[in-house]
Amino acid sequence: MEYSKEIYQSEDELWYLFKEKAKEKFNDSELSIVDDIYQFAKKAHEGQIRASNEPYILHPINVALILLTFDVDLQTIEASLLHDVVEDTSVSLDTIKDKFGKEVALLVDGVSKISQIKFLSLEEWKLESLRKVLIAMASDFRVVFIKLADRLHNMRTLNYLPEEKRREIAKETIEIYVPLAHRLGIYTLKWELEDLAFKYLEPEIFQDLKIKVSKKREERENEIFDIKIKIENLLNENNITCRVEGRAKNLYSIYRKMKQDNKTFDEIFDLTALRVIVPTIQDCYKTLGIVHTKWKPIPGRIKDYIAIPKPNGYQSLHTTLIGDNGEPFEIQIRTEEMHKNCEYGIASHWSYREKGKKINPDMSNKINWIRQIVEWQKTIPSAREFINRVKEDIFSDEIFVFTPKGEIINLTVDATPIDFAYKIHTEIGNKCIGAKVNGRIVPLNYKLKTGDRVEILTSKTSPGPSRDWLKFVKSSSTKEKIRQFYRKKEKEEEKKEETVKEEIEKKNKGVILERKIKTSNKFGVVIPEIKGEVLLTLAKCCTPIPGDEIIGYISKGRGVVVHRRDCKNLLSILGNVDNSLEKIVKVEWANDVKILYPVKINIHIKDEPGVLNKIVSIIAKYNYNIESVNAPPSKNKEKTTTIYMTLQIPGYGKLNDLLEEIKIVPNVLEIERNS
Ligand code: MN
Repeated sequence: MEYSKEIYQSEDELWYLFKEKAKEKFNDSELSIVDDIYQFAKKAHEGQIRASNEPYILHPINVALILLTFDVDLQTIEASLLHDVVEDTSVSLDTIKDKFGKEVALLVDGVSKISQIKFLSLEEWKLESLRKVLIAMASDFRVVFIKLADRLHNMRTLNYLPEEKRREIAKETIEIYVPLAHRLGIYTLKWELEDLAFKYLEPEIFQDLKIKVSKKREERENEIFDIKIKIENLLNENNITCRVEGRAKNLYSIYRKMKQDNKTFDEIFDLTALRVIVPTIQDCYKTLGIVHTKWKPIPGRIKDYIAIPKPNGYQSLHTTLIGDNGEPFEIQIRTEEMHKNCEYGIASHWSYREKGKKINPDMSNKINWIRQIVEWQKTIPSAREFINRVKEDIFSDEIFVFTPKGEIINLTVDATPIDFAYKIHTEIGNKCIGAKVNGRIVPLNYKLKTGDRVEILTSKTSPGPSRDWLKFVKSSSTKEKIRQFYRKKEKEEEKKEETVKEEIEKKNKGVILERKIKTSNKFGVVIPEIKGEVLLTLAKCCTPIPGDEIIGYISKGRGVVVHRRDCKNLLSILGNVDNSLEKIVKVEWANDVKILYPVKINIHIKDEPGVLNKIVSIIAKYNYNIESVNAPPSKNKEKTTTIYMTLQIPGYGKLNDLLEEIKIVPNVLEIERNS
């Protein structure tokens, strides 16, 4: 489809052309309403000129002309002629409502609202404007059509604007309007917007590519014609009526492909592409079979988007064949209806507005998508998060992979086997330990491609998802499920720790520390439940001393290890070892302890002269030995550091008194026992 790109001398000449074209679609009374609106808009914009030095009204006429090719309804055409009136002239929305009705006024309001938003930063503006576009679209599709047509005409006339402005608008077009057109399946509009934006963003590459493509096209013109005739003859012989069209690929998609696959221009071989349009779906498959017997297809390039349409509803069969001269060419086979869908996207489903008509499934998918956006808008409070969700949804395409049973699963582009596993079932994701793609083991961060057959290897004893997965999984729902697993696990661990503490509490009931107990072991620890000699040590992590509440833990090879009851290390051991509670044993201090006990203390200080001396002199006063001391110099601006000390304290010594005394030394910030 070609847009009219001629330059018209006067607005009335262009308007005449519009009416000639509109006659095919609207009756005389409809046309006379449109004509009234044109006269009104022309008057309202009187005296205004565009950057191109032309009368402003040429812009709304052009927008209406673009919309006409998309087969839109009368109100859309009416609103498109008025789309800049409220924003740029003194006419109020109420006037429009009074003169042309509520529906048209609502459409004009929607379009104006999108254009009015101005924000502090470009980034903010973009986010907010995308949000407004989406909301406006959700309330009425036609608003977005007018906006897209408006943008297309502005892009066609972008050369009249200064360089900086051009780039800004081109960038916004490629970031916001192209994905929207894509999502709505309006490819013709998308391709033109894309190529225009490309032209202004990468002028040199664009020109270079343009020349190369037209050269290549000339070179292959005869060849294309030859193939076209051959296909037509083949299908006629098989009683299939057909229409064969040559198809020019848009420059931007060639550029993107070269960049993505790191290929040179000559390596992008499917420049020659033909479209074969046949009456029925059955004919599509027949045609595929017929061309495959005539030319050899390239394996891996046959795509059945009829059985599995693209998420935006696109349907066709694709295949790449080796031509008689050895050069490959691409064919797309589709029905007339599929063709219309592809060219005009959602616009070709205008009938959804007509009451009593059945909405076709492809259309209802699109409507559902819009509805979902409206729902999100209600439930997601932050604009940024809302936009991120929507962006993720419209800006990412989907891939289709298969389960071992042949079921189709759709995933976002670059999805990994883990995304696949979670999509099947949360438990499969949680127990996933490996994956096979097309029968081969692949790493879990492998990027899946459409057509892959994916098998997930699970293990009942898998400890659950790894946090590292969050770094490479693709979909936000997978991330959420992994995080959920960890939140649940943390809660369970907290609960387990609670239970352990309670159990310890129970086991220690009835222990009276002032009881007179004699012991023969050198640590002064008694194990009431065990008679005879037991291997016993004091835990190095928490260095308990008589007076501390203690607990025994039966450790393989080390006998009973005595910990302080509040030892963090012990609690973590108990939380992580199976049947840990059975390994707990009641222990008590004896009264007749004779040895010196090591005690580790950490003293946080401000590193000023004399602090360490003062601390040492206090310890000396208590007559306690210092087994080791490590006082690294301060490395920070605040001049703080930590002294690590191991003291030797006699049983039932006055450790607390000592710590209290050190605490009040000037420049001592904090003091604590280890663990
Ligand atoms: Mn406009």
